[in-house]
Amino acid sequence: MRPFDYMRATDAGGAVKDCANGGTFIAGGTNLLDLMKLEVMRPDLLIDINRLELNAINDAEGGLRIGALVTNSDLAADMRVRRDWPVLSQALLAGASGQLRNKATTGGNLLQRTRCYYFQDTAMPCNKRNPGSGCHAIGGATRLHAILGGSDACIATHPSDMAVAMTMLDAQVEILGSDGATRTVPLREFYRLPGQTPHIETVLEEGDLITAVVLPPKAAGRQVYRKVRDRASYAFALVSVAARIEVVDGRIAAGSLAFGGIAPRPWHDPAATDLLVGQTPSRDLFAQAADVLTAEATPQDGNAFKVPLLRRTLIATLTDLCRETPQ
Ligand code: SF4
Repeated sequence: MRPFDYMRATDAGGAVKDCANGGTFIAGGTNLLDLMKLEVMRPDLLIDINRLELNAINDAEGGLRIGALVTNSDLAADMRVRRDWPVLSQALLAGASGQLRNKATTGGNLLQRTRCYYFQDTAMPCNKRNPGSGCHAIGGATRLHAILGGSDACIATHPSDMAVAMTMLDAQVEILGSDGATRTVPLREFYRLPGQTPHIETVLEEGDLITAVVLPPKAAGRQVYRKVRDRASYAFALVSVAARIEVVDGRIAAGSLAFGGIAPRPWHDPAATDLLVGQTPSRDLFAQAADVLTAEATPQDGNAFKVPLLRRTLIATLTDLCRETPQ
């Protein structure tokens, strides 16, 4: 590991100023420290934000304000989350391991880096790690890679389960800028697609600090997170679906869908949801939604299986939700 400086932030305003001058925030460190050991990330200055008071979960106008330092374990166990936003608790518990969830934070989870094999291997070309060097994944091993939203510069997937559930729920990200101003960005607009600049992953500016994530009030209907992976725990999604469906008088009255494991960001396709609303649930209808969702898919040889897997996972999830919804 390379030498680096370390400081402990005592207030958020000072932390963002220090970060804007070339620092890197560290909270749980569950991803950052691994990447530092691999020399994928080489910060000169780590700014420890664990002493900032960002670890509360508060009611907020019918919704929930989740401090950026709330751990994944605490968030998954919160009774309000389990009761009103169960998809989030399910997604959190589907991610990582118990030990990691005890350390990993809400803000850090959003900002974790891709697990693309080539990104993590400094001997390999990678446009995300080293802009302009090429992408070794395209034409290479792509089991974990994107089938939607990628580019000829990068086809990495975003690894978070939590972010998929939050995207489905239409959460907002609270950000403190280095100028001291706070702004809010919908999570659905927080991540950038790779295009020709895959090293720029979010709308965050230099020094920006995520201070909280705000969930909107509980929405009607049933919700679920379904994750398909290579083993039963401690594995990233090949495909995941976060879904909420409300059925009234035998018709789908409202819904929301988001997907993980298939794109460079939590994938949200309103067209697939729009097709469902107002219709009578049926397998044919769900298959049509899957058609819409996968119409633009551009898989590689190594991940072409994700297209039928995504279709089947979506159809199964919708079938379960509609069957279980009280009529
Ligand atoms: Fe790098 Fe993206 Fe290509 Fe992976 S897919 S090697 S992260 S550019």
